[in-house]
Amino acid sequence: MQHSKDLKRTILLNPGPGTTSQKVKEALLVEDICPREEAFGDVMHQICDGILEIGHGKKTHEVGLFVASGTGAMEAALVSAIGPSDKVLILANGAYSIRMAKICEQYRIPFTNIGSFGEYPDVSDIEKKLTHGGFTHLAMIHHETSTGMMNPMEDIAKICQKRDVKLIVDAMSTYGAYPYNLEKTPVDFIFSSSNKCIHGMAGLSYVIFRKDRTEELKANSRGFYFDLYQQWNNLQVKNQLRFTPPVQICYSFLEAINETLKEGVSNRWSRYQSNWQILYDGLTSIGLKPFLDRDHESKILLALDLNSKENLDFDDLHDYLFERGITIYPGVIPEINTFRVAVIGDLYAEDMHQVVNHIKSYFES
Ligand SMILES: *Cc1c(COP(=O)(O)O)cnc(C)c1O
Repeated sequence: MQHSKDLKRTILLNPGPGTTSQKVKEALLVEDICPREEAFGDVMHQICDGILEIGHGKKTHEVGLFVASGTGAMEAALVSAIGPSDKVLILANGAYSIRMAKICEQYRIPFTNIGSFGEYPDVSDIEKKLTHGGFTHLAMIHHETSTGMMNPMEDIAKICQKRDVKLIVDAMSTYGAYPYNLEKTPVDFIFSSSNKCIHGMAGLSYVIFRKDRTEELKANSRGFYFDLYQQWNNLQVKNQLRFTPPVQICYSFLEAINETLKEGVSNRWSRYQSNWQILYDGLTSIGLKPFLDRDHESKILLALDLNSKENLDFDDLHDYLFERGITIYPGVIPEINTFRVAVIGDLYAEDMHQVVNHIKSYFES
């Protein structure tokens, strides 16, 4: 019995949940199964293996899955990694790092911020701070999805390693597209979600951790639901997730992981970069001004100044594009009126040209 539903393909330029492939959508439609069955335990393990394979971390790392949006993984990483006598330095140069600081505040985890909104980090400043500040951990966002800035993760990883400071990385809007090699750059804790660069549906997030951090995770955690050790260990020992997983989302996520591996992370990275370039060239040619210096752009997301065009109203542009199957996203940069377009998702060059043409027509009309 074959049922099918014709779905309009939309172009989502918001930074995740992105446009998903037809197969990822179809994978949602599966027979009912109790998630405590062994067959479903296998699905969870395949998801974990796939996540690790994407970052070349199978030999060195483990992964804990959570039924939560990305912020859940962020909370799990912070409250599980940082122990009662630890102190964390947060690279705070965008909206998402401010969220990490808020989580620390909430749990009374001692932290200090370094950096300012929208500014490229000075690695030597961070190094100085680590030398004298008594920090055990450093937490950073790799790609600040609020500004489009790619922070120098590898350089920061080096100075952390030199000083025995554990590194916590938010890879929310990079994991699946950025070519991580966790064997070479042994980040201690790195987290992301199902619905960003792996192109799955929202509903799952994960924290990858170094195998040799397992014991301290067990000792440190102050979360209940967001206890990384318990969440990981339960799947190892009992072959099921600690609490109810979203069954259909899991099947669909597995399909998205397999598509990521099939395309290859470095190919996906090239696709993102060339998609971004089409948007950048097209939109700057009609006078829209990027928020960041070219050198600091991730080429995953572009934040554009709304004031670069006279009388440009975000809602009006949004509605014009939405009617044409394209979704743009508001900005979050304080004091500067911006909007954002991201290339996260199953999107191709022809989609980008279509976007640029529609935006051109908007300004002509
Ligand atoms: C999307 C995102 C998050 C998590 O957001 P959720 O809405 O909880 O999924 C966290 N950090 C960064 C850098 C992000 O891009």
